[in-house]
Amino acid sequence: MPGRVLSPSASSRWIACPGFPVLADLVDRPTSAAAVIGTALHKILEHCLTTGQEPFELIGSEIEIAKDIPADLSSFTGVTVRAGDGKIWITFDTDQALHVDSALRALHEVEEAIGCPPDGGWRPETRLVLDEHIAGTADVLGWFPAIERVVVLDMKTGRNAVDVEETPQLRLYALAAAKVFEAKEAQIVVSQRQGGHRRGRGLVFSIDELRAWYDIEVRPAAMRAVEARAANDIEPYLSVGAHCRYCPAIAICPAYRRFAMEFEPKPVKSLSPEELSELLDKATAIEEYRNLLVAEAVGRMRSGAEIPHYTLVNRRGTRHWTKAGENKLVEVLGEQAYRRVILTPSQVEDSYPEHAVLTRDTDYVTYCNSSAYPKRLSEQAKEVKVRKGAEGLLQSIRKGS
Ligand code: SF4
Repeated sequence: MPGRVLSPSASSRWIACPGFPVLADLVDRPTSAAAVIGTALHKILEHCLTTGQEPFELIGSEIEIAKDIPADLSSFTGVTVRAGDGKIWITFDTDQALHVDSALRALHEVEEAIGCPPDGGWRPETRLVLDEHIAGTADVLGWFPAIERVVVLDMKTGRNAVDVEETPQLRLYALAAAKVFEAKEAQIVVSQRQGGHRRGRGLVFSIDELRAWYDIEVRPAAMRAVEARAANDIEPYLSVGAHCRYCPAIAICPAYRRFAMEFEPKPVKSLSPEELSELLDKATAIEEYRNLLVAEAVGRMRSGAEIPHYTLVNRRGTRHWTKAGENKLVEVLGEQAYRRVILTPSQVEDSYPEHAVLTRDTDYVTYCNSSAYPKRLSEQAKEVKVRKGAEGLLQSIRKGS
């Protein structure tokens, strides 16, 4: 195992838990439908950037996924899938085109703000090496020599909102890219249609700031992760916290198991704030384990296995017209087949950026259709030992200032 690089995409986990890469290598991670679709969308983004074609021109075309096919095609919900000869194809649709369009718009906005296109054009799927241990592939990279700035964009296709300020992944790509071009500044942009970053948010850092963060926080964690690979006992390198959420190694992690086992329910009204915080963490650990159990049970039942006292049921889906169905409906109902609905503020920001100013201040109110929940604050913020004199700098990096 020594010699394997640490990936920036998993950095929020290995920075907080240096033992994670060792355990992650031990678990079999079946490819999910969401990951396959994400890969396909990145292929389309690359295609659009290299050919200049608009994503909407590609709607209806099939994208071949020759490898990494999830065993269960029924997990592809909401997309058109065709399978044969060990390959699958998904049909590129409007929703997917909007993901790619959102990323292209974000790049366009960067160009407009800087006042010129990047030198040599945008570079999709660029391999970047930060040091002997950390390397990965950035979705899109641009170099603006006039202002000595590198720009890195990441297109997220999942539903879970990515916190641009807290995710270290793009800062690592930016730092690696800065090395190549000897840049003085780096801008990171996340484009995520679902999850709250439809417009793509950008933060600008000085390379000195990023280097200080790398020295203080990243390099020591990377060295610990490398050390963990050679260690006989992995436990001292494992650290439980908010970063455990969705960790693929949860099921085999001894530290996490012990943490969950320590759960001791108490009457909630009598809990102190500290006890409440601790029990929230532990309850989340148990919830995570329950999610693993559910996924395992669904997988087995889909393959025909029986689980005592349980049966497999589908959640209620939403029905959609096919193009033929829509045509028939229009034949019968005419214009009444369509309902006039006002665009949401997010749709205006997406489709009419020139009018995005309408969505500021008092022109809309926000209704939240789910109840409030206690969000866990970053673990790393509490755990990092800051070098003397660098406290303010680290704080400003975290705030993305
Ligand atoms: S579950 Fe948590 S402690 Fe265990 S390997 Fe994953 S991130 Fe580390």
